[in-house]
Amino acid sequence: MRDKLVVGNWKMNGGLRSNAALLDALAAEWAAAPGRSLAVCVPFPYLGQAQAALTGTAVAWGSQNVSEHRAGAYTGEVAATMLADFGCRYAIVGHSERRQFFGDTDDVVAAKTAQALAAGITPIVCVGESLAEREAGDTEAVVLRQLDAVLATVASELERIVIAYEPVWAIGTGRTASPAQAQAVHARLRQRLTAAGAADVAVLYGGSVKPDNAAALFAMRDIDGGLIGGASLQARDFLAIARA
Ligand code: PEP
Repeated sequence: MRDKLVVGNWKMNGGLRSNAALLDALAAEWAAAPGRSLAVCVPFPYLGQAQAALTGTAVAWGSQNVSEHRAGAYTGEVAATMLADFGCRYAIVGHSERRQFFGDTDDVVAAKTAQALAAGITPIVCVGESLAEREAGDTEAVVLRQLDAVLATVASELERIVIAYEPVWAIGTGRTASPAQAQAVHARLRQRLTAAGAADVAVLYGGSVKPDNAAALFAMRDIDGGLIGGASLQARDFLAIARA
């Protein structure tokens, strides 16, 4: 059976004081259990805080982005090796907000994925279609194109990645894919991963997951957990989702 994973994406939210309360609550209330994991992906400046608060607990941490370059004259960028220095287990790559606002192309996402893997970090590779693409019937073509760019680059290390299917129209909108809609896309992604020899890669769902819809989504055969934005900022909601 594939492991279950729930990851919080804080986005550009937080502050030292509110982070401390959230991290402490997660650390206190989340117990280690075989086959299920919990993690938070925090803004870069708070990685040290997450590391200090979560080391020795059952909660892992990671970043929301990583540079596509290994090192050098890239002002403002953060290398995967630096994330490893702060104990990151995960790095989100290709989030739709990065693709939309910061120009992360499929090739850039593939390069970021490779950098994370080279530093021993598990990349959480986001794929997902816009509303216009869904309405045009292009969902499958879009997510497979995004996935294929990564598969082509990291073929030999595929088992070490995590995929997150995040329909863009469901992120932060309160509009969630129905369990059946999500499952249909996950099944297609699973088929492609299986053909590439990586049947056991975790495929998370993300997009307005809340305590009241998490159980139905996570009950789907090919959904292995969630990438959670807004609801990961409240310990109670995030833990309720993780327990679902
Ligand atoms: C996300 O940021 O990856 C996300 C899924 O956000 P939300 O849960 O707020 O839709």
